[in-house]
Amino acid sequence: MSLHVALLPSSGMGHLQPMLRLAASLIRHQCSVTLITSHPIVSSAESQLVSNFLSAFPQVNEKKITLIPIDPTTVNTTDPFSIQWATICHSAHLFSPILSSLYPPLSFVVTDITLLSSVIEITENLRLPNYILSISSARMFSLVSSFPSIPSSIPKTSIPPQVLDSSSYFAKNFSDASKSIKRFDGVLINSFEGLEKECFEMLAAAELTDGLPPAFPLGPFLPLPFEGGSSSSSSPFMKWLDNQKESSVVFVCFGSRSSMSKEQIRELGSGLVISGYKFLWVVRTKVVDKEEKRDDLDEVVGHQVMNKVKNNDAFVVKEWVDQWRILCHKAVGLFLSHCGWNSVVETSWHGIPILGWPHAGDQMIAGEVTEAAGWGVCMKNWGWGINNHLVKGEEIGNKIKEVMENQTVRIKAERIGEVAKKTTEAGGRCDDVMNKFLYSLNKN
Ligand code: UDP
Ligand code: UDP
Repeated sequence: MSLHVALLPSSGMGHLQPMLRLAASLIRHQCSVTLITSHPIVSSAESQLVSNFLSAFPQVNEKKITLIPIDPTTVNTTDPFSIQWATICHSAHLFSPILSSLYPPLSFVVTDITLLSSVIEITENLRLPNYILSISSARMFSLVSSFPSIPSSIPKTSIPPQVLDSSSYFAKNFSDASKSIKRFDGVLINSFEGLEKECFEMLAAAELTDGLPPAFPLGPFLPLPFEGGSSSSSSPFMKWLDNQKESSVVFVCFGSRSSMSKEQIRELGSGLVISGYKFLWVVRTKVVDKEEKRDDLDEVVGHQVMNKVKNNDAFVVKEWVDQWRILCHKAVGLFLSHCGWNSVVETSWHGIPILGWPHAGDQMIAGEVTEAAGWGVCMKNWGWGINNHLVKGEEIGNKIKEVMENQTVRIKAERIGEVAKKTTEAGGRCDDVMNKFLYSLNKN
């Protein structure tokens, strides 16, 4: 009989997308999947993705829970995705009757790394093996698993600022997650040895010495065909890319939920102009996509940038784009990114250098992963965790120029791309690790 898994994703595209990519891979390896979704969903991007996923995989059983609202002031944040995350934790007891009543009975559960301490007791009571999905780097997992100690390889200044604020809800949950890790059966990581070799070696050593559960490097996770939504090769910006020279364009996108102040957007625009390179820029002024206005681009980016657009030297959009498709395009020569982990892993596969501008959370640690392997440059002092710190256009422009012209970084990026592609080939390391993981489950 095939293995039956229940998947428990957390809030935000950066959590949902890797869980669904994992789901597709488990289905390919003959598992039956139940997906547990928490409603109401925050962003249109998430709702769209779940709906596309379920249409593409009609054999997947979706179970919905209706979240029990919390008082947001108790979690000390105004970020809708973080409030949603805390609400899922608060409603986690609703998972129990679902997990216990599924038919055929479950073989195992996969839980998003931010939900650990809310879920572990439930699956222990049901005697269900439970695996963590680390949607972040192995390096980040090494921090979560050793917290409150900090691995010597991670500078204190790179740690997510909320983790260091011991009075925050985030820090409390992070610390509880850390304490619960050894009660899990393993951790599935969207990363690969070619990207974080030393870290995986450290985790393997900690499995022997400290009883950490085994780590399975299952990445890089590849996107599913329907993820791009409505954007296609005929999108105007894809046509624009077709007319650009190889590796000549700077692609700028800060993920699904990072916005910048009006002033910073203007400085970034002026930096892109100063760099002298052509650019494709995905502008985001709101944290939640539903609140974004579509018709104020001129006002947001200013006339200097709009002149470049009019002259065909730049393309600026304010919509959800198919980032993977853009990264596939040979015209892209550099990715100016916030270093969300999914973006980092995707870019590694394409062998494109990253100029990292971390904003929050695990993004500094992700930027360090790219720097350690030599294919990225991470701007640690560009507004990281510092409110109202304005990075000037000139500094941004000069840095873009410098990294675009850095041949060492470019060659290292190409190499990492070759390794990543080999890892995901049929019969490659990804398949090996997945088979090893499923074998360990069948054995028990
Ligand atoms: N993404 C996309 N189009 C967009 C913005 C983001 O396809 O306009 C995808 C991107 O490829 C990545 C994910 O959304 O897979 C964002 O995750 P990441 O971890 O990079 O950042 P987050 O959004 O969690 O900050
Ligand atoms: N994290 C964790 N346990 C928690 C909260 C966070 O392990 O209870 C880690 C996890 O790797 C996550 C990272 O901290 O990706 C940053 O969390 P944050 O909510 O800032 O960012 P997100 O991943 O939602 O963009």
